[in-house]
Amino acid sequence: MKLTNRSKVVSNKKMTLAEKVYLPAIAKGMGITLKHFFKKDSTIQYPKEVKPRAKVWRGRHVLKRDEEGRERCTACGLCAVACPAEAITMTAAERTKEQKHLYREEKYASTYQINMLRCIFCGMCEDACPKSAIYLTDRLVDAEQNRTSFVYGKDKLVEDMDNRIDVSERQKKSYK
Ligand code: SF4
Ligand code: SF4
Repeated sequence: MKLTNRSKVVSNKKMTLAEKVYLPAIAKGMGITLKHFFKKDSTIQYPKEVKPRAKVWRGRHVLKRDEEGRERCTACGLCAVACPAEAITMTAAERTKEQKHLYREEKYASTYQINMLRCIFCGMCEDACPKSAIYLTDRLVDAEQNRTSFVYGKDKLVEDMDNRIDVSERQKKSYK
């Protein structure tokens, strides 16, 4: 009994000589190769060439400093709680009088780490931060040869004042 009408009778015609030596197939393949030969390359010479990324690209994080160069993070832990990958860990410490020029808030992160192998670049940490301290940027996470190198500490995360990262596209307007 036929279930559908889609079945076809397979042709059993004899192959011609050209078909037997695969000439038409070879010519067809060469035609495709030639067509691509004159097309513009779609590959790029990374890392010399870098493809432009969208403004909302979510790459590796930055811990921002304020205009006076003080770290904005107050080690509240909200980013770590919001992180679905449990990639963020930190230690909070109290700022001393002498450290007022280093940290904007009375409490700061003495250690702050993000495990880039766990991170899924969802941006939840950025959304959760009440101090506009953490942002995802258009930078890529570097290739490394061992797993521990993917755990980024403050040395890699805190913004360098001589090489500031523009996150104005992502900055919350409500934040003063
Ligand atoms: S981007 Fe997402 S996964 Fe990565 S650290 Fe932030 S909250 Fe966690
Ligand atoms: S980055 Fe923001 S949310 Fe995370 S601990 Fe620092 S202030 Fe809190």
